[in-house]
Amino acid sequence: MTDANTMEQHTFKAETRQLLNILVHSLYKDREVFLRELLSNASDALNRLRFEMLTNQNVLDPQAELKIRITADKENRLLTIQDTGIGMTRDEVIENLGTIAQSGARKFLELTKEHKADPGQVIGQFGVGFYSVFMVAEWVRVTSRSHRLDAEAVTWHATGEDRYDVGPAEMTERGTRIEIKLKEDAAEFAEEFRLKNIIHKHSDYIGFPIYLGEETSPVNKQTSLWRTPRNEITEEQYKDFYRQTTLDFEDPLFHTHMVTDAPVQLYALLYVPAKAERGIFSLRKEDGLKLYSRNILIDEYNKDLLPEYLRFVQGVVDSEDLPLNVSRETVQSSGLIPKLKKVLTNQVIKELETLAKKDVEKYNNFWQEFGVYLKQGIAASPAEADTITPLLRFKTNLTPETWSSLEEYTARMQPDQKTIYYIVGEDPKSVLRSPHLEAFHSRGMEVLLLTEPMDSFMLMGLHKFKDYELKNVAGAEPDGADQPKVESEAEKMPEGDFNALVERFKSVLGERVTDVRASHRLVQSVARLVDADANSNPELQRVYKYLGKEFEVPKKVLELNPSHAILKNLLTMDANSELQNAVIEQIYDSALLVEGLHPDPSSMVSRMQQIIEAALSKEK
Ligand code: ADP
Ligand code: MG
Repeated sequence: MTDANTMEQHTFKAETRQLLNILVHSLYKDREVFLRELLSNASDALNRLRFEMLTNQNVLDPQAELKIRITADKENRLLTIQDTGIGMTRDEVIENLGTIAQSGARKFLELTKEHKADPGQVIGQFGVGFYSVFMVAEWVRVTSRSHRLDAEAVTWHATGEDRYDVGPAEMTERGTRIEIKLKEDAAEFAEEFRLKNIIHKHSDYIGFPIYLGEETSPVNKQTSLWRTPRNEITEEQYKDFYRQTTLDFEDPLFHTHMVTDAPVQLYALLYVPAKAERGIFSLRKEDGLKLYSRNILIDEYNKDLLPEYLRFVQGVVDSEDLPLNVSRETVQSSGLIPKLKKVLTNQVIKELETLAKKDVEKYNNFWQEFGVYLKQGIAASPAEADTITPLLRFKTNLTPETWSSLEEYTARMQPDQKTIYYIVGEDPKSVLRSPHLEAFHSRGMEVLLLTEPMDSFMLMGLHKFKDYELKNVAGAEPDGADQPKVESEAEKMPEGDFNALVERFKSVLGERVTDVRASHRLVQSVARLVDADANSNPELQRVYKYLGKEFEVPKKVLELNPSHAILKNLLTMDANSELQNAVIEQIYDSALLVEGLHPDPSSMVSRMQQIIEAALSKEK
């Protein structure tokens, strides 16, 4: 076997040493996950070999069965896991087993370093990969023979301390053998019934047979669940499959299992997770679906099978129509992908629409988690807005606690209403106090509340629903529009007086406003800011603000409420007095603040003090 004289010593990278140190001393109770990690590596290696053989038959042992065999020697506390996968050359062994490959492992280290988490609590959730074997091993020996005909067998040995040894080995068959000397307190992992148990729990859906000991029938089901007829699958199996393939601990929100023959042949098993945050716990390192061609894994993370705005969907797609002699590149150019994408997208959208009808609460959960993706979809591809729009949900001024679709909004519209109104604001509470809403409120008209940053982006692609145009209530009042006008109960001030006041405002505010004029839409508020013309784009202004582009306070029209007591009193003050100027400045600043456009709110404090002082001295 290995000759001590020919072994070469190497030292693990610092990061790896840290990880090993934690794992070796871990008191984690579910140490069994090490087996899941090793079996998943074996399965990866088998998948990679099968993929290689699609185009290259020139490999070692081309006829060997693709399988995993586990043998346990209880007496000597030895556990061996051997696969007939792609194998590793000497350089690959050093590269792959000497450094941390797993991104999950890195995050794990970060977390434990900052004492944010107890390593014992989180190891099982992280899937720290190959190194998790050191939770149970006194030493580990990996012996491998690459599928490449010219490669020689290699062996790697480590005890979980700082160094590992690499040397030549004698191994005639293709693949990798992992021998583990179990720690005394880990002897249970040399018991066959225990091993069987773990395999059922974590690795049942591995697509290659796992044999235990001398047995000739595999322990695992190794079914391609997506190729199994729907009526033979239980709910629990669907959930299990999801958990085993994603390591998400929460059940998925729902799944859809498709089998079609036209326009393309495909099997698909897709899941919508319960949470958008994939988290550090997930096995899935990227977005994308697993793409199989006739049961052979072609691509672990295919991102072309669904539009970007559905990238949260997880699952498997398998098609008989993919040319068997494929590489990832030819898959892309085969012309089949766009066809698959169309079918899959329609299916997911249809499922979401059905869910929205059948189970409102569940759909609302979905919306809360993934709504932002759909909004982004409209922003990024306005051409798809018609597909996505029915899935959108909104809170409104009349129903601020519940979600409404645009369909529901239009059904509740007032008889003469031809426009869908919305208001954009910083947060759901303060937007309800906006002066722009007053006129709508008092006539019982419904307005969509758009308070997420993504809303502004969405609005760039969303202009219409059916025949209804969407309009911002903060827009100017175009003549003859169907916007509500309200006359306040209180008497308006005489026109001459009002005009004089307007002149005062104009001279104080100067260039900062484009105009000052009367409004017909204010009830309690003194003033509001609106855009000068219908073409100016307040959404774009906000988008710039969010993108961190240089932000200048936009010039707007200041509209005044001619019935408001403050304005009437303002007129009776000495013209051009310091106090009158201060009040005018304050009215303008308050309007800016309500719009979320004030660049420096605390700058108002000294002026407010001045106004308070004046008010108090009058009371005396
Ligand atoms: P990951 O599986 O996420 O890449 P691991 O720590 O589990 O990370 O494994 C590290 C690397 O070691 C793998 O990427 C692979 O290249 C190699 N490897 C591990 N086990 C095997 C195996 N049985 N056959 C071939 N290569 C393997
Ligand atoms: Mg792995």
